[in-house]
Amino acid sequence: MENLYDVLIIGAGPAGMTAGIYAKRAELSVAIIEGTGIYGGQILNTYEVENYPGFESISGLELGDKFRAHAEKFGVPFIDENVTKITDADKIKEVTLENGDVLRTKAVILATGARNRKLEVEGEERLSGCGVSYCATCDGGFFKNKEVVVCGGGNTAVEDGIFLSRICKKVYVIHRREEFRADKTLVGKLKSCPNVEILWNTKVTAINGNEQVESVTVTNTKDTTDEDENQTISVDGVFVAIGTVPESELYVGLASLDEAGYVVANEDCKTGTFGLFVAGDVRKKPIKQVITAASDGANAVNSVVEFLNAY
Ligand code: NAP
Repeated sequence: MENLYDVLIIGAGPAGMTAGIYAKRAELSVAIIEGTGIYGGQILNTYEVENYPGFESISGLELGDKFRAHAEKFGVPFIDENVTKITDADKIKEVTLENGDVLRTKAVILATGARNRKLEVEGEERLSGCGVSYCATCDGGFFKNKEVVVCGGGNTAVEDGIFLSRICKKVYVIHRREEFRADKTLVGKLKSCPNVEILWNTKVTAINGNEQVESVTVTNTKDTTDEDENQTISVDGVFVAIGTVPESELYVGLASLDEAGYVVANEDCKTGTFGLFVAGDVRKKPIKQVITAASDGANAVNSVVEFLNAY
């Protein structure tokens, strides 16, 4: 009889790895499938995590490593492959991997998280990796004593601004409104950085340069739509931090998605589809943090156990 898992978890961010730990502790047969080769999800882009209890300050990289080490200590197996398909075969789910393997399982937890949203302006794609970056902690070091722009007004943009201010000569934080949605503590820190200039009611409309970023074109979002109002700011780098979009393309037709593509489920992480559960940032929910992702991982396994008991 070929292997039949109790539960397969897709995605090795905080939600997936917590689910793995809880599943092992519930003595379920489980594996975590992660196609990127990266363990920790979006926290790896975070320089400093200061709101995960028990760690006053820890780098995202280190926290991701700790999650993985914790999961490994409980014997959670990791499968380094992309999932290409999830199909139903009677009461069993078949999870097809990119290498052609088909894994059979009673339940699946979708924990694929979210990816960076693009500005979708002229020059962004062409200069991606040539001055345009989506990860300040990964690429900030390339901009030592240089001038950069950060786009966005959420926690990521504000954290990126603070982080880059320690490396760069000057950091422009460009936000389309006149108020950040980031936590007040972070906003206070950003505003106290002497080399940070915040441009309110402004958006980047083009990223310019031949081989490398040389400047951005910006326009005011409030007072005018007149093209003459465009300004050019000379910078060496552009960090795009305007939020995320869910990694849920695979789930179209499998689970209920909202208009933005997030999987609709309550805190119990039940998708409403037989054997299908969801955890972490890919779930529609009001607050996306490491702690809520980890919480989802625990809740999802609780629901899986309930499901398996009735199986
Ligand atoms: P976010 O909270 O969704 O913020 C995205 C920001 O980008 C918003 O300010 C938004 O403007 C702006 N924006 C969106 N689309 C834009 C566009 N096309 N052009 C220009 N600006 C655009 O995303 P995030 O900062 O990446 O955070 C994602 C989640 O992770 C959040 O729940 C956040 O709290 C969490 N997070 C937490 C921490 C932490 O707790 N330390 C750190 C990082 C992230 P508007 O404000 O006008 O909508």
